[in-house]
Amino acid sequence: MLKININETTHLFEKQNLVTNKNGFDNVVCKKCGLKGKRTLETVFVARTKANAKKITTCNSNSSVATRVRILKQPSGNKSFENLTVGSEHEVIPSPESIYPNTATSVWISGAGGTPIRILKHEFEKIN
Ligand SMILES: [Zn+2]
Repeated sequence: MLKININETTHLFEKQNLVTNKNGFDNVVCKKCGLKGKRTLETVFVARTKANAKKITTCNSNSSVATRVRILKQPSGNKSFENLTVGSEHEVIPSPESIYPNTATSVWISGAGGTPIRILKHEFEKIN
């Protein structure tokens, strides 16, 4: 199963069932790409299939993914985060982890020493 955090996704998940299922899950479907999953709390579980992988890629590319960003809030982290200061600008790099692609709400940039770092929507603004 793939796990999608509803706070960091470009999918627009809509609950399908009127009453939450006995097992605590809601059936959800993305209004944009049709991706179906089961949601509990802040996570949507999606079957790991080729069709779903395609929907995820398409839905992300439909949104405006940044190619260059400016840091708005100093992300906390280890030494790799030292080159990130408020106002500094960074090129977005290809995601090193397919489970976390670059999206409108989170992108990868090069940290100190070239270590890939993922930053979240409240930490950056899109320049390009
Ligand atoms: Zn979607």
